[in-house]
Formats: sequence, structure tokens, C-alpha cells
Amino acid sequence: THEEIDLKRYIRNIPDFPKPGILFYDISTLLRDADAWQLAMGRVARQVAPWQPDILAAVESRGFLTAAPLADRLGCGLLMMRKPGKLPGETISHTYDLEYGSDTLQIQADAVKPGQRVVVMDDLLATGGTLAASVALLRKAGANVVGASLLVELTGLGGRNKLDVPVKSLLSYE
Ligand code: 5GP
Repeated sequence: THEEIDLKRYIRNIPDFPKPGILFYDISTLLRDADAWQLAMGRVARQVAPWQPDILAAVESRGFLTAAPLADRLGCGLLMMRKPGKLPGETISHTYDLEYGSDTLQIQADAVKPGQRVVVMDDLLATGGTLAASVALLRKAGANVVGASLLVELTGLGGRNKLDVPVKSLLSYE
């Protein structure tokens, strides 16, 4: 049955991607298995539902994959957080530091109504830089960020300590 599926078996490790020395956790193998993906989305829905979001904020690009089916299951909206230059109309940006250089995320200026309950969705939490930036950007737009939900968390990097919102992940690895 569904409950007997060990979802970790569907996450594949790819060494030296995208750079030498990096071990990449590949979720493609979970996405392409119908039963495992359905089970994963059911579990994510159960972890996010208690936060009662009005809208899910999906981080480009793998966050889109979890947020879209979840918004449908929970009956809430969806907004896209994208790399610069992708979204039409007026946007709000947030630039954050990386190990080398910086990165920027954007949302449409009218994406969130002040005080709306927002849950941030991404595939994986590593250092927490991406999620921390996402939370900061959503707050600039007036959102009430009530949580963050991931498929995978790499706990050894302490990413959740960078965040001042509750974090839930389906699968964690040291
Ligand atoms: P962080 O900002 O927490 O260091 O990195 C998380 C971001 O980088 C997420 O947007 C995630 O999609 C991407 N990322 C970093 N490492 C991996 C990985 O091993 N597997 C996957 N699927 N995404 C990763």
C-alpha cells in the first residue's frame, strides 16, 4: 500500500553536480513515479494544511512542482517567486548574498494582499539562504509568512536556524 512506500528510495544522489564536490539530491526520480509522487503530495498537504495558507509562494523552479498540486489540494492560491526579468508588470525584488556573488528573487508587486497567510514552498533546504530571502521578499510585499515546506532538508547545514518561521520537511538527511 501507499503507506509502505519508503520515499527516500525515490530521491537519487548525483555526485559532482552542479560542481565538483557537490552531492546533488535529485527529486526527478520521485516526480516520475506516479504512486510515490501522489503519496509525497498527500503528506506535504497534511503538513501544510494546519497553517491555513491563503496562498503558496513557489520558489523557481522546483518549488513550482510541489506548490501547484498542493494549491489545488488545499484550495488556495499560488504565486511565483522568480529570477529577475521573468515576471511581467511591476515587481518587488530582494537581493541576497551567496558564497560567491549574489542572487535576486522577484514577485509581482500585487501578488500578496497585506496580511495574507503565505506558505513558502521549495524542493530542498540546504544553507537556508534561498528560503530566508524568500521570506524577506514576501514580507516586503506585506505578507504574513506562516511557514515553509520542503520535500528534502539537509539538516547538517543548519539552514532552518536562518529562518524565523516554522519549517516542515518530508525527508531529512544529516
Ligand atoms: P540553499 O539556499 O538552502 O542553500 O539551497 C536551496 C536551494 O538550492 C533550493 O532552491 C534548491 O532547489 C537548490 N538546491 C541546492 N542543493 C540542492 C540539491 O542537492 N538538490 C536539489 N534538488 N536542489 C538543491
